[in-house]
Amino acid sequence: MERTLGIIKPNSVSKNHIGRILTMGEEAGLKLVNMQMKTLSQAEAGGFYAEHKERPFFQSLVKFMTSGPVLLVVWEGNGAVEKWRQVMGATDPAKAAPGTIRKLFADSIEANSVHGSDSVTSAQRETAFFFA
Ligand code: AMP
Repeated sequence: MERTLGIIKPNSVSKNHIGRILTMGEEAGLKLVNMQMKTLSQAEAGGFYAEHKERPFFQSLVKFMTSGPVLLVVWEGNGAVEKWRQVMGATDPAKAAPGTIRKLFADSIEANSVHGSDSVTSAQRETAFFFA
């Protein structure tokens, strides 16, 4: 059994896409084991994306991620990290496969609807970051 962190980002929350996104995860065989809705502080968003601190899009990303509430979710299942990544689709919605969350709901590469951990190691760190 594996766990991974998902975030339904502010653009998807504000556009009422939470239900459809969670359904897509559940229909892929993932089990929702924890969730919390909150508006991230600058410190939380900056800390969460610390690995991108030097990237040109960092300030804009933090501004976007703190612009409204997000839904933090923990998914569990066999190969949950990879499974959720498949459901999300590629980071850039222009490159995301048909039927994926990002293809359906993303507004841009930044406002790309959802986050998912990229490895089991990241999943452990990211889950602990929000769910102590
Ligand atoms: P990642 O750690 O790959 O999930 O990237 C973190 C987040 O940064 C992505 O989900 C996007 O919201 C954002 N992002 C990644 N690449 C870009 C980019 N080239 N321009 C703007 N935002 C980006």
